[in-house]
Amino acid sequence: MNFINSLLAMLFSGFIFGQSQPSVDFYKAAIHVIPVPSTKGINGKVTYWFNVLDKTDSVFLDAKNMDFSSVLLNGKKVRHSNAKDKIVLYKKLKADKAYKLTLDYSVIPKQAVYFLGWEDSLADNNQIWTQGQGKYTSHWLPSFDDMNEKVEFDLKLTFNKEYEVIANGKLKDTFLKGSLKTWFFDMKRPMSSYLLAFAIGNYDSEKVINKNGIPIELYYYPMDSLKVEPTYRYTSEIFDFLSEEIGIDYPWQNYKQIPVRDFLYAGMENTGATIFSDGYVIDSMAFVDKNYVNVNAHEMAHQWFGNLVTEKDSNHHWLHEGFASYYALLAEKKLFGNDYFYWRLYESAKRLQQLNNQGKGEALTDPKASSLTFYEKGALALHILRTKVGDKFFKKGMMTYLEKYQFANVTISDFISEMELASELDLNDFVQSWLNDTEFPFEKVKLLLASSSKDLQTYFSLQSELMSSNSGNEEIISQIWSSNLSHRLRENIILDYHESLSESFLRDAFDTKDLKTRQALSIATDRIPSEMKKQFESLLEDKSYITIENALYRLWISFPEDRIAYLEKTNGIIGLPNKNVRMLWLLLAVLTRDYLSDVQRTNYKEELFGYTSEINSFEVRQNAFSLISEVYPLSDQNLKDLVNASVHHSWQFRNFARNLIERLLRDDKQKQRLIEISKELKGKELRYIQSKLQV
Ligand SMILES: [Zn+2]
Repeated sequence: MNFINSLLAMLFSGFIFGQSQPSVDFYKAAIHVIPVPSTKGINGKVTYWFNVLDKTDSVFLDAKNMDFSSVLLNGKKVRHSNAKDKIVLYKKLKADKAYKLTLDYSVIPKQAVYFLGWEDSLADNNQIWTQGQGKYTSHWLPSFDDMNEKVEFDLKLTFNKEYEVIANGKLKDTFLKGSLKTWFFDMKRPMSSYLLAFAIGNYDSEKVINKNGIPIELYYYPMDSLKVEPTYRYTSEIFDFLSEEIGIDYPWQNYKQIPVRDFLYAGMENTGATIFSDGYVIDSMAFVDKNYVNVNAHEMAHQWFGNLVTEKDSNHHWLHEGFASYYALLAEKKLFGNDYFYWRLYESAKRLQQLNNQGKGEALTDPKASSLTFYEKGALALHILRTKVGDKFFKKGMMTYLEKYQFANVTISDFISEMELASELDLNDFVQSWLNDTEFPFEKVKLLLASSSKDLQTYFSLQSELMSSNSGNEEIISQIWSSNLSHRLRENIILDYHESLSESFLRDAFDTKDLKTRQALSIATDRIPSEMKKQFESLLEDKSYITIENALYRLWISFPEDRIAYLEKTNGIIGLPNKNVRMLWLLLAVLTRDYLSDVQRTNYKEELFGYTSEINSFEVRQNAFSLISEVYPLSDQNLKDLVNASVHHSWQFRNFARNLIERLLRDDKQKQRLIEISKELKGKELRYIQSKLQV
């Protein structure tokens, strides 16, 4: 690195990681937070206790755009300045002395706290939830963007008693005063500020006690009681497995999981209180298509890797994401078997090779690496390390690492040193090729995976045989097809080679009773030849919403004379949380001649067009925008919903909406309509659409 670059990196790291103040140590906090839905604001009070290690004349806390009504140090007013992003106290502080700082504040957080559903007329979709990592807790609480400042936070929240309030720690007590209730949560151990969290909404919960006596609370919306089992399937198994496999007891008093609407990610591992996307709240039929198991295990593993031991800064991010991903895969290996595990690693390897081939390979020590690198290369790297040092020493090294650095901060070299001590091996080569290098050694990885999985071995030798042999693909595939293949292998064969397989082969392939193989067939075939009509029709009976969606669409396209029968058969199926089957069904029903009465057609169209509205989750809205815009012009209300979506807090959804707006603006007529509609908009929505219309 040259000088300019390293200087930039230093400036940049101060900005990204938060500034540190080594002369003081904050160790305890008592927080009282009152969220105010009408203003989307927070009124709060926080008391911090800290020790001064080296004499200093100022102390700061990160605090974004906050107003302070009172700032007291040891009960007395103290000179301070309140910049945009921090509050600084000016006072000569002596070493080896303890201080108490109390701040009263109010803030309208720009991010990190999200208020949903408070503006519509529905009462049961109201939620407030937080996201600290990447969004900075200092938007709602004066706290520490620097992950190295670990504090024991006790959180108290006051809110309307009709709601459930959930936060980190153990609920010690509640206190009722009129319509307001105060919840007292107690933490026993310190953590970084980004792991603080609360969620407020309409929830019921189920409690599970695991083997070590740690209570696990599973939250759900009251209407979803039948979805609790499939959504949280294997939760205690995963919990018991992780404690056993990691070899260190779960470090916190309890564990809660809370689904929320329109979450920014799949899940977030707040200490003892994982918040996750309610797009994972599923019925038992959806389990085969989309389930929470991997995310569940990943966030739980973070309770050790990230929460108990925390990276010093994002140069060491592998220690969080790679480790959580690896242990999640181990949990799944225990549940779904060896082959599942190795196929997943192989799929990761394929994606990483692709990145590598585009010249975009990344080092795990690069703080700006993509999540593919941090999560998947990160997990593979740990697998490689484990094969290198052996199970016994791997576990020993991991245990001493966690014990030595518990409730503290770590670097990659801290971890490597513990592994070297445990195994008595020099791990320099591993560090060089797996952590520092940007190259991805695909062939080496393939060989290693094949040596552990018979299934992959069969697959790889099939691949090379198909490349080199003079016989036809089908002939070669037929030789192994009838033997005892795993469904993953069959699925991959269908997806990779369906084009060179005959109709009669594919027809026979439908006979496997396996859902995933049949799903692969439903995806692989675009136009259904009449010889395969019967097989495709049988897919409408499969217990998979993705299969049903694929089959319904392809059958409807391919056999117009039977459209009504297909619609009758699938009427009333909702599907995945994004309502995939229902929305496709509505669209096809409306488009089918002689199926609906005029009233029905109007009602169904209204239902479909209504799914773009803000009262729905963004997964539903996105699906509705896509489907409708393929066939119809968007209605005025859809266009308003689209502009609303273009300023949504979820960047994936926001980008989707912005792209669709760009597309519409290329059409003069649509542009004119957007101009008309913008007259009824205000605030962020108006600002965004105006910026687009002016260009
Ligand atoms: Zn993670």
